[in-house]
Amino acid sequence: MSELPKIIQDLKRNLKYQQKLGMKGVTKTSNTLEQIRAEIGDCKRCPLCEGRKNIVFGVGNPNAELMFVGEAPGRDEDAQGEPFVGRAGQLLNNIIKAMEMERSDVYIANIAKCRPPENRAPLPNEAATCIPFLHQQIETIKPKVIVCLGSVATKYLLETERSISTSRGQWFEFKGIKVMPTYHPAYLLRNPDAKKPVWEDMQKVRDYLKSNI
Ligand code: SF4
Repeated sequence: MSELPKIIQDLKRNLKYQQKLGMKGVTKTSNTLEQIRAEIGDCKRCPLCEGRKNIVFGVGNPNAELMFVGEAPGRDEDAQGEPFVGRAGQLLNNIIKAMEMERSDVYIANIAKCRPPENRAPLPNEAATCIPFLHQQIETIKPKVIVCLGSVATKYLLETERSISTSRGQWFEFKGIKVMPTYHPAYLLRNPDAKKPVWEDMQKVRDYLKSNI
């Protein structure tokens, strides 16, 4: 079946964010995001294409200073074609608000753009096939900070085997961009005690962004 309506939906979503920014937001940058989406097309480059309803490209401000990276779409995200829209997404929205920002200020994407079966983590070959698109998005958006949400995003973006409990709260770098790993919002839903360390991590990010305007 043609992916064209879904691609158009993604482009409209990006346009909506550009309009929020005013004409100043309609820049070469956002065109390039459109080009990346067009390059993905009706992707069948890895086996995750088989179970997906929608490719979840990413959403948000194409000129964002802050980017969140999760592991892969879940059921709600697959159904709606947008990352972090379920309960974990609500929690992420609250975290963003607590950082004195709006969801529309940031950019949100995943390591893999299609939903893995049974919500498992993307396998190494799937992540390796999909991650070049995320790299292109990062190069285009040029955020000042990337927050890796959870162990899977941290592992694949930073190419590390360190556990999230030892890497969270510390600064890393990806192609000259500061990276802060923290726990995934879905983990916080199961372990509310982890909200405190996440908030400590996000305060570091907020303070860094404020001091690097
Ligand atoms: S996960 Fe990425 S590489 Fe795999 S089919 Fe989806 S878009 Fe293509």
